Amino acid sequence: MTRMTSTARPYLNRRLAEFGTTIFAEMSALAVRTGSINLGQGFPDTDGPEEVREAAVRALRDGRGNQYPPGPGIPELRSAIAEHQLRRYGLTYDPDTEVLVTAGATEAIAACLLALLEPGDEVIALEPYYDSYAASIAMAGGRRVPVTLRPHTDGGAGFRLDLDELRAAVTDRTRLLLINTPHNPTGTVLTRAELAAIAELAVDRDLLVVTDEVYEHLVFDDAEHVPLATFPGMRERTVTIGSAGKTFSFTGWKVGWVTASPGLVTAVRSAKQFLTYVSSGPFQYAVAEALALPDSYFDGFRRDMRTRRDILAEGLAQAGFEVFRTAGTYFITTDIRPLSEKDGFAFCRALPERAGVVAIPNAVFYDDREAGAPFVRFAFCKKEEVLREAAERLRRI
Ligand code: PMP
Ligand code: GLN
Repeated sequence: MTRMTSTARPYLNRRLAEFGTTIFAEMSALAVRTGSINLGQGFPDTDGPEEVREAAVRALRDGRGNQYPPGPGIPELRSAIAEHQLRRYGLTYDPDTEVLVTAGATEAIAACLLALLEPGDEVIALEPYYDSYAASIAMAGGRRVPVTLRPHTDGGAGFRLDLDELRAAVTDRTRLLLINTPHNPTGTVLTRAELAAIAELAVDRDLLVVTDEVYEHLVFDDAEHVPLATFPGMRERTVTIGSAGKTFSFTGWKVGWVTASPGLVTAVRSAKQFLTYVSSGPFQYAVAEALALPDSYFDGFRRDMRTRRDILAEGLAQAGFEVFRTAGTYFITTDIRPLSEKDGFAFCRALPERAGVVAIPNAVFYDDREAGAPFVRFAFCKKEEVLREAAERLRRI
């Protein structure tokens, strides 16, 4: 029997072969290299509240969290997460058995999929999907089944889910629905009626649900964030993922969490403990304090981000892009066809040279690259003057 030698065989295994460098790393490096305004990777250019930063400094200085914190997360943070879910949504979670702190939402996603999937299990994800979903499903040996959100221009509806398509995608091999609302990259916020239909489907077909709600505090206008776990029959089958990165503008801290019933949390923890075991010791103390900030913080943050959304949306429209409605997140998705462009990849690769601006081609979030080709995502979590300057530059292309 012949066997390929270790060096002849590709180093990267087959499960991950389709995933090269993430688009975010590629585009942020391009922004640095070309000195462009980076509206690609979603991170704020201003740090979060001073008192939260000070809380982290205090924890570091006082020696809290400088050695391994407890595996499930420090008790103060687990209590603060449970309190947050209760105060905002009326959801009751036991901090000791139903809350798990993770290294950002990214680790939570990976741990959920590694824990809950058997090889060959199907996972339905909303396409365009956040890139780590595809990679994590692959690492777990699962099969991703995309259900595509389609753009609606009339009435400013933005990208919407077709519930019949979702229902039709469920098979006997479907293990879980991987939902994301508010949705990256489209800015869609699923409505109460859509969520109720998803919940009904999950109960009816006995599916697990992993729901990525990291943008829960970034909803605008009349949109409302409703956690899937609040719907009948959902609490016991739903793993909800949150993250401090977006809500408190400290994306580098990588403090995320999972809330679910004890059985699900135990399963996810089993995978999580062999990924990082624990992380972010002192930051966990700071995030515990941040979650207890008064409503005025969350309201002000949302208002501030809505203003930025409006500045960028207006600038993009004036520059000739078709701008889809963003009801939540950090992002605006545009269609470049009115600019006589059709390939978002080529457009984004050329944009730093042409305009000194970096954006993300939505095609990377699609299995069906053709379907995503004309869409380009811009992040508005940047200073107002930066957004105005970017808009000015884009008007000149
Ligand atoms: N989910 C979504 C939808 C995201 O956009 C991101 C990144 N911003 C994450 C998860 C990862 O979050 P974290 O930085 O907490 O790992
Ligand atoms: N979630 C951020 C985005 O969508 C990026 C996070 C990352 O770089 N992995 O832009």
